[in-house]
Amino acid sequence: MVQPLTRPPRKNPILRTRLPTLPPPGRSRAALGLTAAAAEGRFALQTCRDCGCVQYPPREACQQCLSERLPWRDQPGGGELLAQTNLAHSNDLFFRERLPWRLGLVHLDCGPPVVAHLHADCGGAGARVRVGARLDRAGQAVLIAFPEQDTPDMADDIQLREFTCDPRFRKVLVTDGKTAAGQAIVAALVAAGADLIWVGHSEPWKRFAGFDALERTPQVALLPLDLTDAKSVREISAEIGGRVDIVVNNAEVHRPYGISTRPGTEAARAEMDVNYFGLLRLAQELAPVMRARGADGQSSATAWVNVLSIYALANFPPHGTFSASKAAALSLSQCLRAEMRPAGIRVVNVFPGPVDDEWNQLTPPPKLAPAALARAVVEALRDGVEDVYPGDVAQEWLARWRDNPKALERELAAPGG
Ligand SMILES: [Zn+2]
Repeated sequence: MVQPLTRPPRKNPILRTRLPTLPPPGRSRAALGLTAAAAEGRFALQTCRDCGCVQYPPREACQQCLSERLPWRDQPGGGELLAQTNLAHSNDLFFRERLPWRLGLVHLDCGPPVVAHLHADCGGAGARVRVGARLDRAGQAVLIAFPEQDTPDMADDIQLREFTCDPRFRKVLVTDGKTAAGQAIVAALVAAGADLIWVGHSEPWKRFAGFDALERTPQVALLPLDLTDAKSVREISAEIGGRVDIVVNNAEVHRPYGISTRPGTEAARAEMDVNYFGLLRLAQELAPVMRARGADGQSSATAWVNVLSIYALANFPPHGTFSASKAAALSLSQCLRAEMRPAGIRVVNVFPGPVDDEWNQLTPPPKLAPAALARAVVEALRDGVEDVYPGDVAQEWLARWRDNPKALERELAAPGG
């Protein structure tokens, strides 16, 4: 059984900080389908459209009939552990620092045998396991075999934690505690065992609804943070930057306007100033400090979450300028992801549909409850996924966008949404 994680000891400031290393990145182009699914927490394998063969590892053609029609299909992942081994030696720097490392050969019920990283709670040869795909620190899909039934503290497995960004015993910055969504995210992080949560509020002279509850929470430290002010961002980076393990950037400005429903550019600028430039300011200050701590022991810097919007994929004209600011933030977030990857720090993009808040009062249901958004953020960290689309609306629009981006654009532009 995995021993529950204990609070890591204070870091000895004299010891050098270990530089981040990455697992081997080389994969074939055919394997990108596995990575694309794993980025969303799914386990998919190539399934031959002609003979039905499920194959692994990914290839350009079916191993049985040489067909090139190989769509990716989600797999349940059940299987039998055939053999296991403990690696005691590796020529690869990443694994050498983490030995011993447990690997297993699993015969999947859907057909192929796979080599997988083995969770500590999996039994020996002959045991039933369930295989899932996760992203490693280099952003590539790997397979992990889990015990068939959940076990207590299974998230604390040290091997598994190399693939996830579990908030347990980690220090988190949540950029805006003023909103219901921000407060729900803080509560979810507390429940997930975060060690310390800094919560930004842009107008420290104002007490907002929920302020007292935040102030009473022992894990919470409120701090003034205004993403539109470079000096404010620099100050918090100097104060806490060296200790932040996870950033949750949920600060946003949202005004329900299109182009012709409001004259001038003032509201659109306010949105851009927080949703896009705010992310840029924060990333310029915090990202370099976090990158240096990408391999800093049990609780290293591990993730950066951006709460975007499903409107980042296609413009929703009644909220047109907001959509544009989120599209800009998505593009910048992809840049941040590329820059954080060498340090093994994951950038997670969250694409909620309309959240049940004051700016969506006129949006018809279903709307995403702030608590559901918060759950999605914490689950994404625990599962180590990159892209999350919480809620029915986001899921439906994602499916349509995948099917045909033009169709979604048209549909969102139709009168009445
Ligand atoms: Zn085939």
